[in-house]
Amino acid sequence: MPETAPRVLMQSRMNERLKARVEAEFPVLYVDRLDAVSDSDASSITAIAGWGDVSSALIDRLTNLKVIANFGVGYDAIDAGHAAQKGVMVTNTPDVLSAEVADVAVGLLLNTVRELPRAETHLREGNWARAGAYPLTGLTLRGRSVGIYGLGRIGMEIAKRLAAFDLPVSYYARHRKDVPYAYEASLEALARAVDTLIVAVPGGAATEKSVDAEVLRALGPQGVLINIGRGTVVDEAALIDALADGTIAAAGLDVFANEPHVPQALIDLPNASLLPHVASASVATRDAMADLAADNLIAWLRKGRALTPVPECAHLNR
Ligand code: NAP
Repeated sequence: MPETAPRVLMQSRMNERLKARVEAEFPVLYVDRLDAVSDSDASSITAIAGWGDVSSALIDRLTNLKVIANFGVGYDAIDAGHAAQKGVMVTNTPDVLSAEVADVAVGLLLNTVRELPRAETHLREGNWARAGAYPLTGLTLRGRSVGIYGLGRIGMEIAKRLAAFDLPVSYYARHRKDVPYAYEASLEALARAVDTLIVAVPGGAATEKSVDAEVLRALGPQGVLINIGRGTVVDEAALIDALADGTIAAAGLDVFANEPHVPQALIDLPNASLLPHVASASVATRDAMADLAADNLIAWLRKGRALTPVPECAHLNR
């Protein structure tokens, strides 16, 4: 059978550099959503680039699909296990964003504990001159002990930064690591051992709603939850209750269960500091992610070797 000429499927709302890099090499079909590709186009698609949901059903419809080059390190929206079974390579963009995301995790922690965004609003709205100083914050970073849920590439960068803040760090992950941080054998044990919990695990079925009412209770009334992993990891309804009734003190969130929709109850809570999924969103870091995604796609289609395959697909690399 003749080889299908490369043709790339991409969502039209996409990073401009990734579009330009891919368009320079291959014809691109743009769609609003990946699953909106028509049946007549489906068999001509050899690659998917960027972001978007890639279910097993979509992989099956794209009968000549060879590679899914994800723009981002988290690939829970892609059925990578199914892709691997069908010999379809899946790549992501690890490492190039870890330091940037860790910076934002620490910034979000400071914003949450010291209420910096609210203090700035106090100034901008003229309340400093009119009504006086911004109230003292009830919380401080001083004296806190931090637990990191997921000590991978990003978690390690967060831990390094917290060491410079003189904060003791412990962690929970699937595997114990050779690191100078205390290991806790479960998420609940970690939450019990610390008063500040930072989520840096991937999304997906294994972590879904793992930060639940029990874990929040274990964190306690001085507790602060920071999430820069995935919104699905936290039981959002339980978190809203915990913030409203003082089960924990505050939360800082960059990610949400149903983005871009954020529950009004969360927005209304004064002890929640909220960001619209911006942890990697600088031009420099997004450019590096775009280049790595494009390089992966090109390397797989031209040379049959991906630069950064996801673990499920690493064995496909020649
Ligand atoms: P990584 O290097 O693969 O690290 C993931 C860590 O989570 C590892 O320590 C891993 O444990 C742990 N983990 C995975 N599944 C687990 C489970 N079921 N139970 C307990 N621990 C589990 O990934 P990374 O590069 O640090 O990225 C982490 C996540 O951050 C991404 O998947 C993405 O969702 C998120 N992220 C968010 C943003 C943002 O803009 N907010 C940006 C980039 C990434 P082991 O080490 O024991 O395997």
